[in-house]
Amino acid sequence: MRIRADTGSCVASGLCAYTAPEVFGQRAEDGVVVVLVQEAPEEHRTAVHRAVADCPVQVLSVDEGRDPEESVMAPYKAVLTGGPAHLPEDLRIQHVADLAETVKLPFGSGYEHFAHHGGYRTVDGERIPEFRWVGRTALAE
Ligand code: SF4
Repeated sequence: MRIRADTGSCVASGLCAYTAPEVFGQRAEDGVVVVLVQEAPEEHRTAVHRAVADCPVQVLSVDEGRDPEESVMAPYKAVLTGGPAHLPEDLRIQHVADLAETVKLPFGSGYEHFAHHGGYRTVDGERIPEFRWVGRTALAE
């Protein structure tokens, strides 16, 4: 059971974190949902389904797929902003499996990291999640 949350549309009610606290949390600064575990353990299945059903703005979903091909599907197109000014434009469009994940992009002699903070950008007429640069790590020697 893979869990997804569209954090950009979450209204921070906290119902999911109340219903399934082992799976959902909230950001300290604004209360927006945080998915604590990407693959929910079986024992939390009922609570997760209740949280998904009760979310007032229906921004939570679960993928029950068992097929490994299915589990690596990347449903979100995202735009990366910030970071190196010379990052090629075509690398700034990525596909991510979950808005709560951090994008780790190999570039030069290291990795650039990007995270979604709830914002969206319009790219070629399409409104897609924005992942802002949060830091860089060097490749291991
Ligand atoms: S129940 Fe829905 S709106 Fe409320 S915090 Fe969770 S995801 Fe956000």
